[in-house]
Amino acid sequence: MFIVCDNLVKIYKVATLEVVALQGLDLQIAAGEMMALVGPSGSGKSTLMNILGGLDAPTAGRVYVGDYNLLQMSGREQVLYRRKMVGFVWQQTARNLLPYLTAQENVELPMALNHVASRERRERSKMLLESVGLSDRLEHHPNRLSGGEQQRVAIAVALANKPQLLLADEPTGEVDSEAAKAIFEAMRNLNEEMGVTIVVVTHDYTVASRVDRVVGFRDGRTSTEVLRRRGEDGGAITEEEFAILDRAGRLQLPQPYIETLEMKDRVKLRLRDDHIGVYPDRELEVRHEHAAGHKGEAE
Ligand code: ADP
Ligand code: MG
Repeated sequence: MFIVCDNLVKIYKVATLEVVALQGLDLQIAAGEMMALVGPSGSGKSTLMNILGGLDAPTAGRVYVGDYNLLQMSGREQVLYRRKMVGFVWQQTARNLLPYLTAQENVELPMALNHVASRERRERSKMLLESVGLSDRLEHHPNRLSGGEQQRVAIAVALANKPQLLLADEPTGEVDSEAAKAIFEAMRNLNEEMGVTIVVVTHDYTVASRVDRVVGFRDGRTSTEVLRRRGEDGGAITEEEFAILDRAGRLQLPQPYIETLEMKDRVKLRLRDDHIGVYPDRELEVRHEHAAGHKGEAE
């Protein structure tokens, strides 16, 4: 596995208050995957992104990216990790680019800081800007680009030094849906062309159709996962939604299911041959009596 998060905990202390941003998060991401994190505001998505980016350290747990153990990096390793392993794209378009440099110069800058020769800088920046669909915008300054174009330049900047991991925290948060589509297409291209692993946070559930896997966050943990798989003969793409069973055996039931069956506080569990039944507390006995006469299950 390329990324392994194991029981990650992050607690922010603000004055006398403690905020638990991640509470025992488990997540694994394979090399070359393009996946999305979705979830309500405050559910811990950015906290995880900052940890994966080497910008923040977890309070407890383990996290590995490639050969790096992010909890045991020396200061020097941390600098190398940030410079070589990860590229970051932020939501605020203005935070990603330098306003007084052209698109191409913005992409060249991180390479210059890494002492890449100028000829290679020019070639690679051009290639990257082509990959994100901006070959006709090389000489433009950010203020002459749309928000969506700026974000695509930002993706090229983030990949300048060939990181294995691209992290994008709500890169489409400030652009319209057409531009959002182009941003996701650009990331998809780069993912396929360069094999870069991509983790993208988004509010937009429609992008789910553009990634392989969507992981839902809730209260500092993953709670659901949608997988898209192509049929064996390369046929139709099927989508399947899963709930996440954590290492302690905890499971989050979807709110609509809970409401439909008016479940509250306690539920009864029944182990069957090939599944587990979850019953509302007071109804179990009644349902069982009904089911006794039939062959099938009552849930
Ligand atoms: P998301 O990106 O899913 O909206 P965040 O990871 O930003 O969620 O935040 C998770 C929780 O941690 C929230 O309750 C948030 O208020 C809190 N939090 C995030 N960053 C800090 C910080 N630097 N200091 C204190 N609390 C923070
Ligand atoms: Mg966030």
